[in-house]
Amino acid sequence: MPSVRFGEFASELQVGESTLDALLRSGAAVSYSCKAGSCGSCMLRAVEGGIPATAQTGLKDSWKARGYFLACVCHPEGDITCAPVDADAQVPARVVSLDNLSSDVVRLRLECDAPFEFSAGQYITMVRPDGLARSYSIASLPSEGFLELQVRCLPNGRMSDWVRNEAQAGDAVKVLGPSGDCFYVPGKPEQTLILIGTGTGLAPLYGILRDALSHGHSGPIHLFHGAIREEGLYLREELAQLAAVKSNFEYIPTLLNSDGPVDQVVLKRFPKPAGSRAFLCGDPAIVQSLKKKLFLQGMDLRDIHADAFLPAA
Ligand SMILES: Cc1cc2nc3c(=O)[nH]c(=O)nc-3n(C[C@H](O)[C@H](O)[C@H](O)COP(=O)(O)OP(=O)(O)OC[C@H]3O[C@@H](n4cnc5c(N)ncnc54)[C@H](O)[C@@H]3O)c2cc1C
Repeated sequence: MPSVRFGEFASELQVGESTLDALLRSGAAVSYSCKAGSCGSCMLRAVEGGIPATAQTGLKDSWKARGYFLACVCHPEGDITCAPVDADAQVPARVVSLDNLSSDVVRLRLECDAPFEFSAGQYITMVRPDGLARSYSIASLPSEGFLELQVRCLPNGRMSDWVRNEAQAGDAVKVLGPSGDCFYVPGKPEQTLILIGTGTGLAPLYGILRDALSHGHSGPIHLFHGAIREEGLYLREELAQLAAVKSNFEYIPTLLNSDGPVDQVVLKRFPKPAGSRAFLCGDPAIVQSLKKKLFLQGMDLRDIHADAFLPAA
């Protein structure tokens, strides 16, 4: 079997094992989160040896050219030696503010110390100095000059507990990305937009909504926010106020017990969604099932943009 080397650490791959798992087994301290090839936190640089193309899927061309690859989905056919990525792939950033949007959602704003291009609604991976990495969607617009994340605090959540109880303005983190295709693309200003999110799935939608409005989107924009309890409908007042002044924007908060699951509410309202553009974010089960249902109801898959908030592996 091929072997993988990272600094002083080396190990022989076991059958079916990824480069990441082999390196972790050898004791190497490599950051990771999703272990599914999407968050980018385990990205390394190949110094020697061939990297399969599948381990570079979705990476920028300039990164591919430099030999960057995702260790969690890398199954090399021969020996490889790898090293950490250079500074171009990890932007240093600082926490600039923290405030509570509800009893369990914290708004965290970061400022990057180097230029960082993104579209509202994409996601970044935030890496703490100890290497812990988690993905978060971007709720802010590039013109605002900061990255706004809306973080739901989970019981015993390693990153979210830190955000809620320890992080302070001035703390240093690193930012990887951006990734994902959940963002507004101008060009069809009259198209109906259907934005659907559960929990902090609102974060990217809040960015996409404001981006579409700032581009002068004139077609109807419907934002469905699903929560289990009233308390989960954070930013409710602000969104209701926005709907009161923007005639093409409708805000539809939905509660599980009184209104039913948000996917059913959406399909009842839009039984024929073909021709619209949809953005689905948050709970993976709801995102996956709604994506399938919208497709079966006639929507073109190219018009469905989805980010499932998969938990870290
Ligand atoms: C593309 C993408 C975008 C994301 N965007 C956001 C975002 O904008 N806001 C946000 O708050 N989160 C977002 N997430 C989720 C985020 O990356 C973390 O998984 C989350 O913050 C938990 O991390 P943690 O370290 O606090 O908890 P962990 O230490 O990873 O987990 C603690 C415990 O909670 C459980 N757990 C983890 N996630 C969930 C969940 N969703 N529901 C219930 N239990 C769970 C774990 O199984 C574990 O038992 C996103 C994830 C992805 C993949």
